[in-house]
Amino acid sequence: TTIYLKDYTPFGYLVDSVHLTFDLTPHATRVTSRIAFRPNPNATDRTFFLHGEELTLIRAAIDGGEITPELSDKGLTAITPDAPFIWEAEVEIDPGNNTALEGLYMSNGMYCTQCEAEGFRKITYYPDRPDVMSTFTVRINGDLPVLLSNGNPTAKGEGWAEWTDPWPKPAYLFALVAGDLIAHPGQFTTMSDREVELNLWVRPGDEGKCAFGMEALKKSMKWDEDVYGREYDLDVFNIVAVDDFNMGAMENKGLNIFNSSAVLASPETSTDANFERIEAIIAHEYFHNWTGNRITCRDWFQLCLKEGLTVFRDAQFTSDMRSAPVKRIHDAIDLRSRQFPEDNGPLSHPVRPESFQEINNFYTATVYEKGAEIIGMLKRLVGDEAYAKALDLYFDRHDGQACTIEDWLKVFEDTTDRDLSQFKRWYSQSGTPRIAVAEAWDDGTYTLTLSQRTEPTPGQDDKQPQVIPVAVGLLGPNGDEVRSTEVLELTETEQSFQFTGLAARPVASILRDFSAPVILEQDQTNSERAFLLAHDTDPFNRWQAGRSLAQDTLLRMISDEAAPDADYLDGLLSVLRDGELDPAYRALMLGLPAQSELAATLYERGDTPDPMAIWAAVETLRQATAQHMQDLLPRLHGEAMVDAPYSPDAEQSGKRALGSAALALTSRLDGGAMAADAYANADNMTLQLTALSCLLRARKGEEELAGFYDQWKHDRLVMDKWFGLQVSMASPEATPKTARALTEHPDFNWKNPNRFRAVMGALAMNHAGFHQTDGTGYQLLADWLIRLDPVNPQTTARMCAAFQTWTRYDAGRQDLMRAQLTRIAETPNLSRDTTEMVSRILGA
Ligand code: ZN
Repeated sequence: TTIYLKDYTPFGYLVDSVHLTFDLTPHATRVTSRIAFRPNPNATDRTFFLHGEELTLIRAAIDGGEITPELSDKGLTAITPDAPFIWEAEVEIDPGNNTALEGLYMSNGMYCTQCEAEGFRKITYYPDRPDVMSTFTVRINGDLPVLLSNGNPTAKGEGWAEWTDPWPKPAYLFALVAGDLIAHPGQFTTMSDREVELNLWVRPGDEGKCAFGMEALKKSMKWDEDVYGREYDLDVFNIVAVDDFNMGAMENKGLNIFNSSAVLASPETSTDANFERIEAIIAHEYFHNWTGNRITCRDWFQLCLKEGLTVFRDAQFTSDMRSAPVKRIHDAIDLRSRQFPEDNGPLSHPVRPESFQEINNFYTATVYEKGAEIIGMLKRLVGDEAYAKALDLYFDRHDGQACTIEDWLKVFEDTTDRDLSQFKRWYSQSGTPRIAVAEAWDDGTYTLTLSQRTEPTPGQDDKQPQVIPVAVGLLGPNGDEVRSTEVLELTETEQSFQFTGLAARPVASILRDFSAPVILEQDQTNSERAFLLAHDTDPFNRWQAGRSLAQDTLLRMISDEAAPDADYLDGLLSVLRDGELDPAYRALMLGLPAQSELAATLYERGDTPDPMAIWAAVETLRQATAQHMQDLLPRLHGEAMVDAPYSPDAEQSGKRALGSAALALTSRLDGGAMAADAYANADNMTLQLTALSCLLRARKGEEELAGFYDQWKHDRLVMDKWFGLQVSMASPEATPKTARALTEHPDFNWKNPNRFRAVMGALAMNHAGFHQTDGTGYQLLADWLIRLDPVNPQTTARMCAAFQTWTRYDAGRQDLMRAQLTRIAETPNLSRDTTEMVSRILGA
């Protein structure tokens, strides 16, 4: 069944309070609920339907009188009084056998929950929809030392604890944790001088991986006060690390639950990239307390209301904590590699979808990351001051409510007097807009003509022009900036913008700071790109110029067997030589477009991408780059050798990123000799893993790989890296075999999503390896998706996206991929999650 946005109706009842009692036992947990309902004056339909799935109903009563509700596999209906009443129910559930990791489940002997989006209905009968909000009181009975739920602790004794959450919330924010856990404590004083007790709860053995997460939490709390004026609103804030978790983390009120990979860190076991990601996720979940919890979503179609805004806020936080240009470049790389394929393929959907079968399939890069880009565009269009005012109004006006995108846009309209009806298309129109650029120069006047177009996407044949902020600056012939950044508002299909009074024809720097999530189609010459690479004052576009040069030379190497381009190699060399430039930024300069991205570009040009040809071109360009920079490499590598105790901060990690990139290039010249040395001397995971990956890429490092296993076999998060690295570093031909062999390893706990993704995610990401012409990559992935589906539909469905680009490739590969997709689709009892994904990918 498909659910539509247009069908929204409010629930017939309001909930005044919820009391829950849990009697925890692994296979027969009892959940007793006592809920105060009253008729909703704003609703007409009084059907009393409560969601409930996989529950055994023991007893139900209304106002103390036992009743026999009508049960289905989706929930129950009952006859209710036409006045306020008390609903009581007792159900039994089986957390010990809950492998889907949704609802109440167990992970290593610990009870935990994941209720977003629709998991609460697997805990008890309830109107499990985000617009039904209530206060919750929870009593947990269980013989485990730590018993946690939302809100503030209000009472406890031997074997029980009671928690009260005073803030009305939807059921998806409910959480419960019970286990043998150790607290890493902390403390925060809020802007109005309230003391908040902080705890990061982990399993024994993980105590040494908490300090960084705790500091990140405190920084997030402070930042949200300083920048958004948002204060925390409970006496305690708890975070729990869980090994078995489908996503990154969850913002349950006062009790955030994290995938252990998204919170636990130590220098010995985590890379710089892990630290940065953890800092961002902690911030993200904490920021949800206001954007998501205090103000929540009316229905799941509005998911981007909380996710787009919260991703935007965590990006602002990271820019403030670290380097803003580096963060912006990371985000553009991420958008192009994860969101663009979604937006331009069979899974394309609007940031606010209009229908779905399984909402878990819409926790996507489009909703999250493109959703965040929309907020960024809005802020750029209205300006920082108006943005701040609009946000104040949003918090003021909607605190305690379940809102829509219309509510969100209205606060901007009310603070700025702008009409945002055209801008709103960003929420309803799917597909990535393309902007074509035409330039003219006449007697001191430079004319820039921009035209926009969006290709048809599933269900949307005709596209309307969108409001696109295009940040532009102009450089004069000497490289000086003759016009500083100006935001052009492209609203028509085609529009011209004039710059007058110029002494000479300028070079335009267009889409500075990646001011919109679009594809820029600009016929730049390589000498213009090299000019911008040398002179652009906008760090994003300076990087982009290098990236365009790289892409251009790669495409010509692939299609015309051209040699690596000298403009690219020389330009890169001079940027890398510039010791004034941030090392992190220089490391980014050394990056290349992803092979899948090159495949997309070739496909869009009307060519059929050949993954092996793409792979070979990248290898050749890497080799040429190594040779071209040979003399510089030792110096660059030296910059990584930080002469201070390890810190994951922006400065040190930037240096290590540059050093690592230099080591990777060096390994192409010395067969891995320097990497072997670096491996032996590594005293943190960043350097250890970089060195190991260089060795594997040089087809060496067998001994080191075995040594790494012995050193780290006790650490699940490090072992995930060990599994993943072997698949990502394998040669294309060996990739499927390597992945298959790893699935036979005794430590391949495939029911653990992190371990499953370590192998299968790496397989799907290894472009040339996954797309081997014998189809073994496709088959291996499909075998495992079919196996995982009955155990964990959510993770299975997500990973089906590995096939979303199948129509880009040659007929042989298409046939092989279609066959695997069809095999998955025809599997008996396939989950609703996976069924929806596979049928969308197949275009059915
Ligand atoms: Zn979120």
